[in-house]
Amino acid sequence: MKQNNPIKIDTHFHLDLFPQPEALAQQLQDAHIKVIAVTNTPSVFHYTYNLSKKYPVILPAIGLHPELTLERQHELPIMWDWLEKTRFIGEIGLDYVTTNKENRRVQREVFQSILSKCSSFGDKIITVHSRRSSADVISVIGENYPGKVILHWFSGNVGELQKAISFGFYFSVNSAMLRTQRGQDIIRRIPHERILIETDGPFIKIDSTPANPLYISNIVKSLSNLWNTEVDTTFQQISDNFNTVITLIK
Ligand code: MN
Repeated sequence: MKQNNPIKIDTHFHLDLFPQPEALAQQLQDAHIKVIAVTNTPSVFHYTYNLSKKYPVILPAIGLHPELTLERQHELPIMWDWLEKTRFIGEIGLDYVTTNKENRRVQREVFQSILSKCSSFGDKIITVHSRRSSADVISVIGENYPGKVILHWFSGNVGELQKAISFGFYFSVNSAMLRTQRGQDIIRRIPHERILIETDGPFIKIDSTPANPLYISNIVKSLSNLWNTEVDTTFQQISDNFNTVITLIK
């Protein structure tokens, strides 16, 4: 699977939350930088989907962010209608910043129903949020999800991490993780062949500017420092990993 020109790919980015998404999509197309463009609620997906038709570096993901689940769960039928048109699903998952039991219960129920729809296709790639909820996220997905799982910005404990690794999950790591000791400790425990790179812009900022896939090389450099590898080797590894993710056979 080695190739001369590694793919540059940001696996978790909120294109539609930038002030001029189309201008940015054009820049990404010109720079040959691919992005999994996640969305936070089904009713806005059509916009990113239409951009992806014009700018093929955009891989559109339909999602329902866990923090919006309670107020937007009525949009789920819109998600079902789009599922045949994209392999990428996100941002989905659980967020336990809320301590409200009913809110958490609804999040789990909705997450489960999205997973079960995705499972029926067998080839869906999901990008998953797990803040303060890693244990539940991992057990709800389980070890037999028929597709590929990318845990975005993982922040769980070592036991949870090992379980997720043993289930075959991938991890997209970002500049915020690479900046902190805790984030670095997590990344060091993940096999190189399970690592992907994300910016999570505009939620993550770099030097007070929203993180942007155009600067993905900076994240790859930080990861190279942590791995003690050459930047080219790191790019190749990330590219090979992404190719494995989009290949159907597990
Ligand atoms: Mn995000």
